Amino acid sequence: MAETKYIFVTGGVVSSLGKGIIASSLGKLLQARGYRVTIQKFDPYINVDSGTLNPYEHGECYVTVDGHEGDLDLGHYERFLNIQTTKDNNITAGRIYQNVIFKERRGDYLGKTVQVIPHITDEIKRNIKSLGIKHKFDIVITEIGGTVGDIESTPFLEAVRQLRRELGRNCFCLHLTYVPYLSAAGEVKTKPTQHSVKELQSLGIQPDMLVLRTERKLGDDILDKVALFCNVDQGAVMQSVDVSTIYEVPLMIQRQGMDEVVLRKLNMPLGDKPAMESWMAFLQKRKEATQEVCIKLVGKYAELPDAYKSIHESLSQAAIYHDRKLVLDVCHSEQINDSNVADVLKGADGVVIAPGFGQRGIEGKFVAIRYAREQNLPTFGICLGMQCMVIEYARSVMNLPGANSTEMNPKTEDPIIDFMEHQKAITSMGASMRLGEYDCVLKEGSLAFKAYGKTRIKERHRHRYELNNCYLEQLEAAGMKCSGINPESSLVEVVEVPGLRWYLGTQFHPEFTSTVVSPNPLFMSFIRAASRIGEKGTAGEKSGVGEGNG
Ligand code: GLN
Repeated sequence: MAETKYIFVTGGVVSSLGKGIIASSLGKLLQARGYRVTIQKFDPYINVDSGTLNPYEHGECYVTVDGHEGDLDLGHYERFLNIQTTKDNNITAGRIYQNVIFKERRGDYLGKTVQVIPHITDEIKRNIKSLGIKHKFDIVITEIGGTVGDIESTPFLEAVRQLRRELGRNCFCLHLTYVPYLSAAGEVKTKPTQHSVKELQSLGIQPDMLVLRTERKLGDDILDKVALFCNVDQGAVMQSVDVSTIYEVPLMIQRQGMDEVVLRKLNMPLGDKPAMESWMAFLQKRKEATQEVCIKLVGKYAELPDAYKSIHESLSQAAIYHDRKLVLDVCHSEQINDSNVADVLKGADGVVIAPGFGQRGIEGKFVAIRYAREQNLPTFGICLGMQCMVIEYARSVMNLPGANSTEMNPKTEDPIIDFMEHQKAITSMGASMRLGEYDCVLKEGSLAFKAYGKTRIKERHRHRYELNNCYLEQLEAAGMKCSGINPESSLVEVVEVPGLRWYLGTQFHPEFTSTVVSPNPLFMSFIRAASRIGEKGTAGEKSGVGEGNG
């Protein structure tokens, strides 16, 4: 078997340039040429994983099949490449140090002084290489978080420098920088890029390719100048101009031949230029969709677009597949009350009740749920959102006004959402939830079953509390059906109210399995209902989009 090739993606000048999108787009193109590709992210912070990070610090916490609480860039990797990542795809400085300290205690380095070089850098290199070897990938793209020059990322860059020596032609370094436009001067400025490359070179890394992030299209003269000054091959300086959707980026870099330059340098056969039909079809649909579908997302991080990243992407993918343009309005759950709920949810074709932790904003969620249920609006509750749907139902329909989750009120008289017995001994906050992929069996004939088109599914979880099965019979008798059950533990994974248009909650997070070419069936079904497609006497009746398409 051919050796695995390693591509490193670093960033300079400023943060938030979209290294994850460039890595995903390049990965997409290489995958489309027939290579087995994966992408890995190194985060230079000391947290062992993203699980204990507040979304204000780092946006959404993305969950992998094997239960890793990861960086949101992993979501981009999965959505672009339609692959599954694991904990090996996301490694923090904290985890590297934890491993090294564990080995030191075990006596692995007996007699030696344990140091950043070689012990930390060796552990970083081991994690980079083992991903390719373990899973037999042709290409591993490794994104180094942070910006060149940060103190925290230095050991990672040192590891890249060493790997470059060891791997020779099996290694490729791509550096992403920013080229600002100064309106006073009427010019774009390449100096920050030159300094950033110099910084990288001073760490011993000569980039093979530069990607210049820019708001205005750059001329060849600028690209050539940067190539000359930064010692990069002419033709290996690309630009990434702002585009209307991140999903255009693979095509934009394909037009510049990025994948060809990379493959040539890595000495790999180019093969045919990929047509990427399904990707193009998706973008075409997106372009043509004019009719809007308005979804109100009720959550407490209304001001933070990245907090609900995967939900947003899943809704938008499902909308595009139904020839709709998504209008997503994130409504602050803390500000919703009985007197303004009609106003806040005005114009909603559907309502999503967001996941989350803690008491803040919870009462507003109950108000929104009650209104949506009484108005028969398509309603989709995810994780905490599902738990809130159950509590609201217990309070309003089952006549249990004191019903609550023990997360919100440990002394509640009706703990309809509760901690499971075996979890009670857990005191640590890190990685202590029900995490990762679990099986779920759907009841035939249910809304969930119709969406997925099968009884056995797998979805990802991240929560501590569960629907309390002591209330199951009472809940079902009152009209809320448990349509998805975990076959091993009998825990309830899906609830729905059959008489309503589309009223469903999931204990799992379906947003983590929705990708561009394979949108999640529940989001598809929800958007279909919200768009009134297939309903008698509506314009959408003829559109022919299959429920759970994909
Ligand atoms: N806070 C709830 C629990 O821990 C829900 C978590 C979530 O929405 N991800 O069970």
